[in-house]
Amino acid sequence: MKLLRLYFFIALVSASLQADTIFLEGYGDKQPIRKTTAGNIDYFSASDFFHVIGGTCKWLAPENRLEVDLASHRLSFQLANPFFLRDSELRHLIYPPIYYVDDIYLPVDESLRLLEDILGQVLVYDRRQRALVATSSGNSIVRVTVEQKLNGILLEIVLTERLEYDVFVTEGNWINVTIIGGTVDIDQIARRRSLPQVRRIRAFQFENSAQVSIKMRGKVKEYHHNYAAAPHRIQISIEDLEFEPEELEGFADVQPKEYDAIDIIVIDAGHGGRYDGAVGKGGLREKDVVLDISLRLEELLDRDLRFTPVLTRRKDMTVELEQRALIANDARGDLFVSIHVNSSKKRKANGCETFFLAAATNDEARVTELLENSDFQLELPEASSGNKDLDFIVMDLLQTEYVHQSRQLAEIIQGCLQARLNIKSRGINQAGFAVLNRVNMPSVLVECAFISNKVEEKLLGQADFRQAITESIYQGIVHFAELYDREKEINAISR
Ligand SMILES: [Zn+2]
Repeated sequence: MKLLRLYFFIALVSASLQADTIFLEGYGDKQPIRKTTAGNIDYFSASDFFHVIGGTCKWLAPENRLEVDLASHRLSFQLANPFFLRDSELRHLIYPPIYYVDDIYLPVDESLRLLEDILGQVLVYDRRQRALVATSSGNSIVRVTVEQKLNGILLEIVLTERLEYDVFVTEGNWINVTIIGGTVDIDQIARRRSLPQVRRIRAFQFENSAQVSIKMRGKVKEYHHNYAAAPHRIQISIEDLEFEPEELEGFADVQPKEYDAIDIIVIDAGHGGRYDGAVGKGGLREKDVVLDISLRLEELLDRDLRFTPVLTRRKDMTVELEQRALIANDARGDLFVSIHVNSSKKRKANGCETFFLAAATNDEARVTELLENSDFQLELPEASSGNKDLDFIVMDLLQTEYVHQSRQLAEIIQGCLQARLNIKSRGINQAGFAVLNRVNMPSVLVECAFISNKVEEKLLGQADFRQAITESIYQGIVHFAELYDREKEINAISR
């Protein structure tokens, strides 16, 4: 059974992989490393990578295991298993190693982070440039990139670690970024090909900080900055840059990004197979209720020509969280809606509630989070199944870029449920659900009602109540998609 599941997993992964190459910079010549992408996560060939950085690999076929000796450490990875051994210590990856063309592939960002101290060198993965940059000089400021976006220009300063910074604009269209505790290779940063938007880049090293100054070709009227992780970077977006006409050569070639409507909706029926989810006193099982609602939602979305529904399961079967995220990411879903019913030791607890992924801020949300994450915990060996660890794992890869949209989607769906259902509305809430953490799209988790509540268990057993829930969620998706389309239109006009 275990083996069968593994093969299913491998087949699922292999079918959607694409071969690609990234280059490791900073170890002599540029070294190619095979790369593939699954579910929007980049993986690199373990044997290529460890070979380039001076490790030795041994593949133990019967166990699907890869042993790596690297700088007096031994690492042991197993296919499709998120746990790996570092010497005798058990470590955990969010995305397990996958199989692709006779090799085991590891998630790039996570691997670099988990091996940082062994590597003895900070490696930064710059996905867009397909580069692994080793900062052998020990400088924390790695590179500056410039990109044309729909509404302006995006500048990114890639760092090896999180550092405090400050941005200010001075005369002559200079954008200056002071990075506290930053170190910079002045020549490396300044040396770069000419760009249509940027006239010059300069760097300064001070005793306790570094400064990167970027001279734009046009007037900087409005700009915003924020911090992003994986890789660590300071992002500065400049809107309404007024270009001097004679300097526009080459600029017109930059194409705006293709407009992407919200159409692929991933419906995730919680639990299933060996995981029943919550079970009511009357014997009603969460996995059956949520599958029924999911299939009804699929039908509604299917009938609406604007949408293409994708389900993570269409029958009573076990689907691990990794697989759910893979299905969603491979489908390039625009929204992810996970469907559950709630349960509580307090028999009176009742109502519907919609969650989005963020740190849980109250105890009730934390309890729901623990309950819904428990399928995932079952798979953790006892040593690392403490709640603290789980919180850490879940929050680690928090997709901050989708928090705003996820919250908006939660609000809209909850509004529709409240308007339609004759049960209490508990509003929206935030919690760290493992399943939402891995999908690269706005995502929500709907707790339709309490199966532990006698009245609501009875309601959940009725087809028309489940249909009412389904129609409310569908309405919410429609409203959100329309709102999003309108925003896009406004942005396109003001461009
Ligand atoms: Zn559930």
